[in-house]
Amino acid sequence: MTTIVWLRQDLRIADNALWQCAAERGEPVLALYVLPRHWLLPGASGLDRLGAAKAGFLAQCLEDTRDKLGQIGVPLVDVVGAPDSVLVQLAGSGQTHIVTAEAQAPEEQAWLERLQKQGVAVSTAATQSLFTAADITSETETFPATFSRFRRRVEKDARLVPQRPMTAPVPLKGVDDIPLPLRQLPRAADCLHQRHHNRTGSIPAYPGGETAALRHLHQYLADVPAVRQYKETRNQLAGTNFSSGLSGYLSAGALSARTAWHALLDWEVEHGACTGSYWLRFELLWREFFHWSLRHHGTALFRYRGLDEDDTRQHDALTSRQRTYWSRWCRAETGLPWIDASLVELMETGWISNRGRQLLASFLIYEMGLDWRWGAEFFQHYLLDDDVASNWGNWAYIAGVGHDARGGRQFAILEQFFRHDPGAAHVHAWLPHLAGLSSEQIYRIHCRATATGTDATMPSPMLLLDWARTA
Ligand SMILES: Cc1cc2nc3c(=O)[nH]c(=O)nc-3n(C[C@H](O)[C@H](O)[C@H](O)COP(=O)(O)OP(=O)(O)OC[C@H]3O[C@@H](n4cnc5c(N)ncnc54)[C@H](O)[C@@H]3O)c2cc1C
Repeated sequence: MTTIVWLRQDLRIADNALWQCAAERGEPVLALYVLPRHWLLPGASGLDRLGAAKAGFLAQCLEDTRDKLGQIGVPLVDVVGAPDSVLVQLAGSGQTHIVTAEAQAPEEQAWLERLQKQGVAVSTAATQSLFTAADITSETETFPATFSRFRRRVEKDARLVPQRPMTAPVPLKGVDDIPLPLRQLPRAADCLHQRHHNRTGSIPAYPGGETAALRHLHQYLADVPAVRQYKETRNQLAGTNFSSGLSGYLSAGALSARTAWHALLDWEVEHGACTGSYWLRFELLWREFFHWSLRHHGTALFRYRGLDEDDTRQHDALTSRQRTYWSRWCRAETGLPWIDASLVELMETGWISNRGRQLLASFLIYEMGLDWRWGAEFFQHYLLDDDVASNWGNWAYIAGVGHDARGGRQFAILEQFFRHDPGAAHVHAWLPHLAGLSSEQIYRIHCRATATGTDATMPSPMLLLDWARTA
């Protein structure tokens, strides 16, 4: 018998229950990563799920995992294919046992169900969350309607404490041979490298991999003032360490949420608990909330009406004006420097700040009037920290069809950009032709371009934001 450890969003060695499960079975181990082939197919918006920076980041995560596994004699095979079909084929001989993570997204659930139906032996373990399904489901008969209720429940219940990360190294024995079907499939690493190099100039905002993740966590926490001030700085659009930068590592599973959580608790012991460290854990609970919400609500999250009961809610067909908006958005040429700077940052690096994401989402939904799911697909394509639950959960929240008790969040876009990037550092960083201009100057040129329709530095904006209208 062989144990196949099927890795998905858990590309790490430390604190990964899959290695424990495999070790307990005592059989030779093969690690497998399947890049789902359908990630390469366009969705309704025309975008697929593998942008350049994201591909580069994932390639680095895979490489680092391969190196680490190589040191303990376990081969990692990475292929492109339909995960369930690949695994059914491998398990055909009846000599294979699959060990993998519990499903988070509905597509993962469908893969696991198919494997079970085909009689493939599968064991699952929790690898992505702070809490276990038993913690959450026994405590919540109905899933909390809002994050506040979820957080209060978690914080009130003394039994709901994330376990300490596992530290013991696990002895594993690798397989001698790679099964033939795997040798015949295209390699995921090749596909990722190709995608990454398709877009020149794209450099992931963070280096991928578990080694980089642990180094980054350590370096961020060593910046004690940054952690202390996190609550005040987290809405910035530009700067260093204004937020933790952990999202990509958590999404790829290069870092476990429990490792991050306990590193913060240890930090509090050393430096004293403060609002900043609490707020970081608070944000990790947001991630947890969306994770369990997706598990609970399943495919409902992907409907236009999201979790809303109202089944008359439908999005009209796009007008030609909205098509123009979309194509200008996709080229980061909306003519609104604040929006274009955020789009360029996202497209080049695969990452933008939380407030940048909120403002882009508000702009697409409420100013462009587009189906929020196109925005979610756009982010899904580009974000290196793309996480189904957090991405679709946040988009639905802003669109008012998720968990937002206020029924949607429309931001005053210009006011927000002026507040969170007063010196225009973010605009300068991503639209270098505007470097040296103050926020007010950029705004004045923008208004002139709005009035005349031409300006060398700023094209005419595709639509007017409130301040532009009154200027
Ligand atoms: C429209 C939209 C789409 C988003 N898509 C994603 C996504 O695909 N993947 C993703 O990880 N995050 C997503 N977020 C949440 C958030 O913007 C990012 O997690 C955060 O900006 C990442 O930077 P950081 O690691 O420095 O976060 P920090 O501010 O340092 O927060 C620490 C950690 O808490 C979690 N977190 C923080 N804010 C949120 C939040 N609002 N929702 C869920 N988890 C949160 C993340 O794991 C993050 O790494 C999205 C937010 C919006 C508004």
